Amino acid sequence: MLELKNVSKYYYNKGMVSSGFTKVSLKFNIGEFVAITGESGSGKSTLLNVISGLDSYEEGEMYIFGSETSHYTEKDYEIYRKKYIGNIFQNFNLINSYTVYQNVELILLLNGTKKKDAKAKTLEILKKVDLYKYKNKKVSRLSGGQKQRVAIARALASDTPIILADEPTGNLDKKSSESVLRLLHEISHDKLVIIVTHNYDQVEEYVTRKITMHDGRVLEDKKIKDYDDNIEIKERNYANIRPLSKMLLGFRNAFNIPVKFFLISFVYLFIVFALFFAYAAFAEGSDDSSDSNLNNYFSSLDNKRIIIKKNDRSAFSKEDYENILKIDNIDSIVKNDLLLDEFISLNNDNYYLYGNVRNVDEVTKVDLGSLPTQNNEIVVTMNENEVDYQKDIIGKKVSLDDLFNYTTNKKYELLITGIIITDGWAYNIYVSDKVQEDIGNNINKINTSLKYKFYDIEGTSNLYNVTGEIIGSSRVSSGKVIIPDDWSYVCPKSKCKGKAFKVNTKNIFFNESKSFEVSNTYTKKNFSSLTGYNFDNYNGAIFINDKDYNNLFNKGYYQSSVIIKNEKNVRDTISSLEKLNLKVLYIPDVSFPFSETFTRVINIIRVIVISILIIVLFFISYFIIRLILKSRNIYYSTIRILGASSKTTKDLLNIELLVVSHISYLIFIAFILLVKFKYIKNEIIYDLSSYVNYSTYLLMYIILLVMTFLIAYRYARKIFKDSAMNSYREEV
Ligand code: ADP
Ligand code: MG
Repeated sequence: MLELKNVSKYYYNKGMVSSGFTKVSLKFNIGEFVAITGESGSGKSTLLNVISGLDSYEEGEMYIFGSETSHYTEKDYEIYRKKYIGNIFQNFNLINSYTVYQNVELILLLNGTKKKDAKAKTLEILKKVDLYKYKNKKVSRLSGGQKQRVAIARALASDTPIILADEPTGNLDKKSSESVLRLLHEISHDKLVIIVTHNYDQVEEYVTRKITMHDGRVLEDKKIKDYDDNIEIKERNYANIRPLSKMLLGFRNAFNIPVKFFLISFVYLFIVFALFFAYAAFAEGSDDSSDSNLNNYFSSLDNKRIIIKKNDRSAFSKEDYENILKIDNIDSIVKNDLLLDEFISLNNDNYYLYGNVRNVDEVTKVDLGSLPTQNNEIVVTMNENEVDYQKDIIGKKVSLDDLFNYTTNKKYELLITGIIITDGWAYNIYVSDKVQEDIGNNINKINTSLKYKFYDIEGTSNLYNVTGEIIGSSRVSSGKVIIPDDWSYVCPKSKCKGKAFKVNTKNIFFNESKSFEVSNTYTKKNFSSLTGYNFDNYNGAIFINDKDYNNLFNKGYYQSSVIIKNEKNVRDTISSLEKLNLKVLYIPDVSFPFSETFTRVINIIRVIVISILIIVLFFISYFIIRLILKSRNIYYSTIRILGASSKTTKDLLNIELLVVSHISYLIFIAFILLVKFKYIKNEIIYDLSSYVNYSTYLLMYIILLVMTFLIAYRYARKIFKDSAMNSYREEV
């Protein structure tokens, strides 16, 4: 039934070819109990492995029941082994982490036996090999003889017609060896049993035939005794492993080595937590950057503020304001809109304060001090942490910053009467209408450019551009201007009087010119009496009436803001405003992070960093898990020798890893939930978890799954990339 004709086996090792055995021709039958002997290295094991279908051969032909096998693929060998071959090895080749029972059951399940039938058959066989009482013992705890009996039980369970044993007693003492050989003999009457041994004496009493090998060739083939050659060979029943059995084995493998289980779950937990932290930190980061809506144009980014201008670009009239106030949702109008964006600083010898200018009408009560009663009295906000060492400022005078001093001749002084304590760090300075107006004028002045031209009162023929600071003084009559006496290049001495001086005022809202008549010229001598200023500080300046001066800049309001009552109705309010022929700007609609491109680049960098992190993480974990799984190589190459297909191996590994990854994922989710519902107190994770949404949890889950499948796929491929014996050899 099994025949070899001139079969040779070569080993290829790093370009070197060595011979396992050469031109071996042998014929075997059911019922035989064959011993192969010979010195070490003579090719016994190699021959047995070729017959087992664990190794391929290069020359000749091997027939099984008359059919050729030289064209066999790995898949064909799998079937061949399932149908015909049961192996017993010198080093037992059992699953050490399984019990005796599970080892025998394993082969039945792999062959498609139902769990229930497998149980009955396993117990029956265990009784037969006298291992019933050890059935729940882990194999690693058995003696060598017991282990080999488990291996025989396993070979019996697969119920194949051929049993091949390579030095089955090599690691056993004399007594155990005898019981193993007796057992092999017992089962040999309806099978072909081939046993490799270098201790022929030990087996002589059982065998029917002796083959001696030497240097890769058959030296002697001798019949020892007759055997029953009339045994009917029954075709062996086998099927593919059942899905339920796969589940059972997968779950068993997930837990049966606790250390491995904990290590792999640890890696999975590490992955999900790292993903969680990376993602949450990322989401938190982008959230922060959208918070920092630094707008270049508006420092007051109140969501209740709507900026308005007239479509015809003219200044607002009283009527305009009345109509605007009729709109329901409008609370108030800030006519000089620039004030809202003005940030002023106040200081005296001991203090320095700054903040947005607000109207004191907004204040109904103060926390310290009292409400102002005079125009020059103000209230300031202060952070609660600053109050202790700054509250003395109440009752003290402070002056407005340098820019203000520059356009007036005296310090602009204000008196602080009260403090409003806040827990934030945004400061307001509440001032009277009068101060607000002065500040408004000042802002207008800063935002306006002035140009002067000096020319003949009668005509426009002699035009001169002149420079110099223009200053308002109550001593100058309205419509008049006083200029330096020494503008001889413009109008020689005393001839300037009566000539025209034209001031052009230009800003984003208007561009206008106004003419003044030179009423006088000043020298050092008459300077103070004409202007009221100090000559040393203001020599070279041009003086006009102070009301004229203010009128240069204050030509009404071109841009105002309305403050709305309710942000929710802002869309309706905007459309009502637009119906009044107004151009509307709602800051939240136009605010953007300091630079859109900049943030976009930052976000792209963030995505790249996170992606790299995930990929690196993925590979680290992948290799750690593979490393852990290396300890599983013996298991998986063993079940391959037992006839598991590549798909079965992959599925088993998949289930094993899926069980562990799901448990890890559930632990992770449970932990997050416990933190979210505050059963576990951890502020960092609590905060971060608010940035992670359901789809992200799903994504993490998918990443775990993908990783699991990839590992199982690659791993199974590795186990199956070579012949069964080679991949087994690599591990043992
Ligand atoms: P035996 O089992 O009789 O001791 P083997 O069948 O193991 O002998 O070895 C037969 C010959 O094949 C020896 O020369 C041995 O060196 C060689 N051989 C066995 N296995 C391999 C292998 N995996 N790679 C290369 N040569 C091998
Ligand atoms: Mg050997």
